[in-house]
Amino acid sequence: MIERLCVIGVGLIGGSLARALRDAGHVREIVGASRNAAHLQRAVELGVIDRFDTDLASAVQGADMVFVSVPLGAMGAVFQAIKDTLADGAVVTDGGSAKASVVTDIGEAIGEVPSWFVPGHPIAGTEQSGVDASFSELYRDRRVILTPLAETDPTAVERVRSMWEAVGATVTEMDVTHHDEVLAATSHLPHVLAYTLVESLARMSEQREIFEYAAGGFRDFTRIASSDPVMWRDICLANRDAVLNMLERFNHDLASLSTALQAGDGNHILQIFSDAKSARDGFAE
Ligand code: NAP
Repeated sequence: MIERLCVIGVGLIGGSLARALRDAGHVREIVGASRNAAHLQRAVELGVIDRFDTDLASAVQGADMVFVSVPLGAMGAVFQAIKDTLADGAVVTDGGSAKASVVTDIGEAIGEVPSWFVPGHPIAGTEQSGVDASFSELYRDRRVILTPLAETDPTAVERVRSMWEAVGATVTEMDVTHHDEVLAATSHLPHVLAYTLVESLARMSEQREIFEYAAGGFRDFTRIASSDPVMWRDICLANRDAVLNMLERFNHDLASLSTALQAGDGNHILQIFSDAKSARDGFAE
């Protein structure tokens, strides 16, 4: 049971965790914090949080669990703001989509990576943002990856694990670098491709006609290009090396498909498409 949870960044990810913990009866009081009082007032009206404070330092006072769910580019400033007012024994965790940058940010803010910080990432989300998009079931039957370090207190890890399990998630642990490489491949590269494809088409002079005739396939492939651009800019920059590695691999494979097409090499194209289909079908099962 969490006595007082402070959620910094009450948007899709933080708002959904707050709702789910309340529904699960796993929290007594929820304090919200961010920059904009109107956003936080809306969260109170929706019943997501009990009260709020736009002063992050006072918002975390007395909280036994702090969940930071702001864009990656804002993490460092948040850690700076809360470091001196955290309660003794408080556990801090986050939901950021890349982990090495967050570990660096907290290390720089505190002077060392503290034992009470548990880096985390729920593998769940939608292309929507803000507290209105949050919902209690977001984490049910979804995975959450925790990336504790050698210095992380195992008791803090257990408290964060039980918080996520209370909302129906399955928790796994992973090394920070491995997490960032895996997520660059499965999430960050697809977002980069979707944004680039839509932007490329939007610049073509016939764009209106193209989008008029865009059917289900285009919609499926590009849904994630409706995600928040600030969040995704921050993710790309925070996980730059791993994303660049994936882009290099992808460019190589795309060039090989182009070569096959130029040569009219139907067998090669069929091989690529067939391999992709069986991998996708297997994954979907
Ligand atoms: P969101 O809906 O836009 O919510 C972000 C919240 O952060 C907003 O409520 C905003 O409130 C607050 N915020 C922004 N800058 C801030 C600052 N400088 N100081 C304090 N608060 C600030 O975004 P989200 O989708 O929940 O994403 C939050 C985090 O979860 C990101 O790190 C993201 O990488 C990660 N994540 C996202 C997904 C996804 O699919 N969306 C999935 C997994 C993980 P104010 O405007 O009132 O400040």
